[in-house]
Amino acid sequence: MNLLLIDKDGTLIKTKSGEKFVNKPWDQEALPGVKEALKYYKQRDWKIIIISNQGGVSAGHKSLESAISEMRFCMELLPEIEECYFCPDFEGENCYRIWADDFIHYTGDSYSVCELEIKNQFRKPMPGMLKLAAHIECAEKVWYVGDRDEDEQAAAAAGLNFMWADVWRMRFTPGMYEARQALDIEKRFIDLEDFELPEIKREPIRKSIFEE
Ligand SMILES: [Mg+2]
Repeated sequence: MNLLLIDKDGTLIKTKSGEKFVNKPWDQEALPGVKEALKYYKQRDWKIIIISNQGGVSAGHKSLESAISEMRFCMELLPEIEECYFCPDFEGENCYRIWADDFIHYTGDSYSVCELEIKNQFRKPMPGMLKLAAHIECAEKVWYVGDRDEDEQAAAAAGLNFMWADVWRMRFTPGMYEARQALDIEKRFIDLEDFELPEIKREPIRKSIFEE
């Protein structure tokens, strides 16, 4: 089994309302190419798990219950996704692991006995959530896909392969692959299946669509 860890906002979904952030669970829709890309990897036996910062909880924009509902709504929208991990605080102290009908709350102390050393490291760009998910799943190959510098930094800190979200979606978005080929832009579709060795970029180069 291979493991596809993936960011949520700006990578898989955008708001329906046009608001910058998702503050209501139902205010989510898939970005172009996402459903096709998830089906592609699911059919090839990749387990798919969301890894998301939800600082909006600590900031007071949404409740913890609302953040949990948001993850479950997203999993209903995109049924290839089996679980979600999110960190609701700015200190990186807490991680919630969510399924359709259950959840687990981890704190740094929950894992003080294992060798992960992830106490207070759950909020990206710290690598705690990625390390925890990779540890639990024991997959052969692990990738993280995201749209922000903090995603790339978290993957690097966890020692995982990283891919930018728009490159990941590209092959599955009508016209985008052809447009990039025609413009001779360096980014090409890369199939995660073809990669054996990690390629981790250390220099953050681009910003999220949420920052535009
Ligand atoms: Mg994002």
